[in-house]
Amino acid sequence: MGKLKLFFQSLRVRLFVIFLVVIILPGIVFSIAIPKIFIRSQLQDFAAESLSHAQALADQIAVTGYLSDVNSNPNIDGQVSALATYTDGRVILIDNTFRVVRDTNNVAVGKIMVGTEVIRSSMGEAINRYRDGANYVEIAVPIRVSASDEPLGVLFYSVSTSQINQSRLTIISMCVFILIVLTIFGVAVSGIGSWALVRPYNQVLEEIEEIKKGAEIKLVYRSHKEMNDVLDAFNNLMGGMRAKDEAQAQFVSNVSHELKTPLTSMKVLADSINSMGDEVPIEMYKEFMGDIAGEIDRETDIINDLLALVRMDKAASFTVSPTNINELLELILKRIKPIAEKTKVELVLESFRPVIADIDEIKMGQALTNLVENAVKYNKDEGWVHISLNADHQFCFIKIEDSGIGIPADSIDHIFERFYRVDKSHSSEIPGSGLGLAITQQAILLHHGEIKAYSVENEGTTFDIRFPLKYIEKEQVHEEEN
Ligand code: ADP
Repeated sequence: MGKLKLFFQSLRVRLFVIFLVVIILPGIVFSIAIPKIFIRSQLQDFAAESLSHAQALADQIAVTGYLSDVNSNPNIDGQVSALATYTDGRVILIDNTFRVVRDTNNVAVGKIMVGTEVIRSSMGEAINRYRDGANYVEIAVPIRVSASDEPLGVLFYSVSTSQINQSRLTIISMCVFILIVLTIFGVAVSGIGSWALVRPYNQVLEEIEEIKKGAEIKLVYRSHKEMNDVLDAFNNLMGGMRAKDEAQAQFVSNVSHELKTPLTSMKVLADSINSMGDEVPIEMYKEFMGDIAGEIDRETDIINDLLALVRMDKAASFTVSPTNINELLELILKRIKPIAEKTKVELVLESFRPVIADIDEIKMGQALTNLVENAVKYNKDEGWVHISLNADHQFCFIKIEDSGIGIPADSIDHIFERFYRVDKSHSSEIPGSGLGLAITQQAILLHHGEIKAYSVENEGTTFDIRFPLKYIEKEQVHEEEN
């Protein structure tokens, strides 16, 4: 059963069946209809012709008075016999008392004959009737001198339709022959047509196998528009995946490099102490150990930031709830204040209105913390950081401005990249992993928001954030469909 279902799921089988039905179905309909229509019209013609022969004979019988004495006119008698013989039929003449006066089969003479046709005809009606399946036509015509006279009797004529049946057989066998030819033609055309239409799919499958083995090819088979669209979409998808793979490889290499740097420093420090021998003063040991601890802190910071970035990538653990943004910012500033105080940087929060927005508090909190921390970190002594919060009916706007060292114009487009740090020289003075803004941007994007940076070197930097107050799930991929 399963195999049969699979068989009919094949596009090729379906196309084959459709083609075959389209070609053969009209053939079948015509083969049934044409003999019927043809035979019906033949019968009608035959019955009309027989009726006119019978009527002509009846008129002569009426004029000659043959009905009252059938022996009186051998000429008419001969005509009666001839009509019956030549048409393989039977002629019966009935007088107005319904008595049979002449029967070409000679069996009914003298008997009373009162069939429906005879009675109707005795009242002046000319009747012809074909009995379906009976293989003969029955005709009854009134015998009268003129149409206005009372009928003198009825001429009943039954005639065989075997001749027509013969041609019916010929037509049916012709139709069957045409149908057989049409079927052979239909099977051939359907087979070739369905094969030709499905062939590109097989070729594409082969190319996909090549790609699976590692070939970097583009699917270029251009057959029909739909296939074209699928191939274009596939090529784009593959391009995106390759770019993603490359970015991932680059990321892994950057991670390794960044993690190696503190380790290398630690190794150098440890080797130098070892090479100094036993005479090393305790102060020097302490200094070197302090440096090693600093490198361990740096390594820990990088790893923590990496973990935060990985968590940010996992949209599955993203849970939004209505959150008071004013309170969130106040909390962040409270946490950072002690750090700012060390360099006497002034932190100012300006809230234009109370703002409640649907956010993941932890992720958005981390993003804002990174920005305020950077504004303090890359500031001057006794500088300032202004944070303003506003909203309209749709969006929440947060601006973080500082009076710090600023970002050079050629670096501003790179600051959101992973591990990017402006001018490695200041990175040794100011600690950081280069991941903070990547984490921030990821978090803002998860909230369907936007982040922009503006900066003037030695004057300061501004980060503008905007995200919707109401979080609306964007269209999800329907996995069930696949
Ligand atoms: P880091 O860990 O180095 O701070 P970030 O991703 O947070 O990494 O920032 C990337 C780089 O952007 C920083 O190294 C710094 O050079 C620059 N930067 C970020 N914020 C500011 C700012 N407010 N003022 C000046 N430069 C900044």
